[in-house]
Amino acid sequence: MALTPQEQIKVDSGLCKIRYCRKSHLKKQVFCSKHKHERFKEVNPIAYHYNFTKSNAKRRKRPFTLTMEYFKQWCIDNNYIELKGRYKDSMTIDCDKEELGYADGNIQIMSNSSNLKKRWVKWRQQQDIEVPDDYVPPPPEPEQHQKQEIEEELPF
Ligand SMILES: [Zn+2]
Repeated sequence: MALTPQEQIKVDSGLCKIRYCRKSHLKKQVFCSKHKHERFKEVNPIAYHYNFTKSNAKRRKRPFTLTMEYFKQWCIDNNYIELKGRYKDSMTIDCDKEELGYADGNIQIMSNSSNLKKRWVKWRQQQDIEVPDDYVPPPPEPEQHQKQEIEEELPF
């Protein structure tokens, strides 16, 4: 991508091309690590969410055999990128059979609150405690972005 003269001056002096960013750019790049990360999310949201889901699965020690090819089609079929985070009750990826984890054919789109309720109901069943029908789960915790882990897995 062509740089504007101002951007060129910034990059030549070793800084990230983003206006007002005072960080150094990475080797052979025009962005600092933060802006490279943001840029990747913008340019290739499906690959970004694939990597994000993968590193989250790894952190939670859940199986992950999902292929990028399947995930790509799944995102399109379910309008996932559009629905994710857009509304208050945003959509998340749910693993149908928990023991299979993130696998082709085992993921479904589910709202954050439904997902939380599903996990809670399951836990109560495991504990052999009855779940009231009118149970409302507590609000979900905000997503913890594991930036460091994601960056390690970027395909460049
Ligand atoms: Zn920057």
